[in-house]
Amino acid sequence: MTNTTVETREFQTEIRQLLDIVIHSLYTDRQIFLRELISNAADAIEKLRFTQITGAEIVDPDLPLEITIEADDIAHTLTISDTGIGMSREELIENLGTIAHSGSKEFFQKLKEGDKKDLNLIGQFGVGFYSAFMAAEKVTLFTRSLDPKATGCQWISEGTGSYSLDVAQGQSRGTKIILHLKEDAWEYGKADIIKRIIRQYSSFVPFPINVNGEKVNTVQALWTKNRNQITDEEYTEFYKYIANAYDEPEFYLHFSSDAPISINALLFVPKENLEIHGFGRTEPGVNLYCKKVLIQEQAPDILPEWLRFVKGVIDSEELPLNISRETMQDSALIGKLNRAVTGKFLKFLAEQADSDPEKYQDFWKKFYAFLKEGAANDFNHRSDLVKLLRFESSKTDQDQLISLADYVGRMKENQNAIYFLSGPNRETIEAGPYLEIFKNNDLEVIYTNEAIDDYIFGLVGEFEGKKLLSADQNELELPELEKELSSEESLTSEEITSMTKWLKDTLGEKVTEVRESKRLVDSPAIILTTHGTHSMHRVMQLMNREMSFSDPCIFEINSRHPLIKRLNSLIIKNDPFAKVASEQLFENARISAGLLVDPKEMVTRLYQILERSLG
Ligand code: ADP
Ligand code: MG
Repeated sequence: MTNTTVETREFQTEIRQLLDIVIHSLYTDRQIFLRELISNAADAIEKLRFTQITGAEIVDPDLPLEITIEADDIAHTLTISDTGIGMSREELIENLGTIAHSGSKEFFQKLKEGDKKDLNLIGQFGVGFYSAFMAAEKVTLFTRSLDPKATGCQWISEGTGSYSLDVAQGQSRGTKIILHLKEDAWEYGKADIIKRIIRQYSSFVPFPINVNGEKVNTVQALWTKNRNQITDEEYTEFYKYIANAYDEPEFYLHFSSDAPISINALLFVPKENLEIHGFGRTEPGVNLYCKKVLIQEQAPDILPEWLRFVKGVIDSEELPLNISRETMQDSALIGKLNRAVTGKFLKFLAEQADSDPEKYQDFWKKFYAFLKEGAANDFNHRSDLVKLLRFESSKTDQDQLISLADYVGRMKENQNAIYFLSGPNRETIEAGPYLEIFKNNDLEVIYTNEAIDDYIFGLVGEFEGKKLLSADQNELELPELEKELSSEESLTSEEITSMTKWLKDTLGEKVTEVRESKRLVDSPAIILTTHGTHSMHRVMQLMNREMSFSDPCIFEINSRHPLIKRLNSLIIKNDPFAKVASEQLFENARISAGLLVDPKEMVTRLYQILERSLG
């Protein structure tokens, strides 16, 4: 008689590749597989408890909510059972055969590239289950969904290309996973070793875990406890548990409040920002609870998007248990929670920045992109976020950063504006002509390295009543200058008038105006934009190359500079080389502004110049 209920199915390609790596790697941290399987069991029980509370009909309603582990050192098996929601046949195929999570693809890519296979991150990428094959040569799984209509199922795989499915009779609700241990992993058949690993990784699982009949964890919702009853180690362990992390948190914030809304929150900032390491977009990391019952995992609406790097728990007893994902989005209550927690978190960061600036700077270097994203997009928190931004400036040492408040605190008495200048890095900004007048007058200039900085400054316009001005702006509002620009003699005003007119006629459409500069010290010429800042023009240029070569600007010349004086003599003599030289001067000024120039024209002109100088 043939058994028609058995079915063999192929794993999705990505899973096959992942399994191949999992099976053939040398591990530094093999025991993490246990953490992953226990975390899945705990998730399944959380979901069950939630369904139970909302009043849905479930199978085996009286089963205790717990995780049971049997370590068998003779049969060399490790069995992990839970009384959670289980899976139907369709769910099995969906959950343990295909990849649903975004971000996992990047993870595989990293795994394939690196020589050291860091599988520690596996749980963060939604594929933790497959770590079972780090220890098992074969996995047999029995499961029964909470749905009274579903039947029990069996899933078997050796982690190679495929798995088999079958019906399983007499199965009670939940999931049982049997790991047939590889010979070099037989130690995981020993109860003592399993207990030790659980104490290390999973002591915060909110359900009892029994190993060979003995309960090994103390069940507690850490966030509801009093702060002074919790040790740093407990915070760290809890962080590792909820964030699937293996390192320590950079910061944690634990608070409770009653007004305007009752909140118990425990939030963590991780040590690393995976987004800058190319792992794709970080998913929100805060779980929403009501009186210790998980309402929504990785809740997307509970914090603003730019806080997606924060991990932790927010518990509010005012939440209705049956709140659905759809109503969550436009619930006034969630909005209120969101504002209260975000405000508290921003205040916390400001305190950290005050009390330990070095540590804050360390955090800033890894996570600045999120704070800038918030300052640019989140109107409600913009003014608080702007205070948290940090910058290099013309008066900081390499690697030292200041806030806008620091800048204002040491401004000159007669100074009314905050000056900033954009450029890809300190060296480029300092080599350019725009800083000259500020250096000459000992005025501090903030360096902005990203277009988003200038965008944010444009949005806020001012800080503590001081205007934010780009130092490459056309009309500079400067305080009374203390120093002469230079002691060199200048061209006469008649000479300047005729020279600027000649330059305007020669450069034509490329310039809106040519004038004598009141800001240059060492450079012969500079260009200024008539609208916006150069960094915005650079962004526009990247979007539309052709157009950008001819974006008109103001051209200023330094009438004390020897090059300008000699150029003037050539102009007076009607020397045709004057045109070539002035065009090159103009293009050089564009390059100093970080703008693109037309390379074809530039090269042709440079040959003319070379020819003349080589004689
Ligand atoms: P993740 O837990 O991040 O979703 P996993 O690879 O660990 O990724 O698990 C994949 C999916 O398989 C889970 O999302 C869940 O739907 C299902 N699953 C795994 N283990 C269990 C279990 N013990 N009970 C019910 N469902 C499970
Ligand atoms: Mg998991």
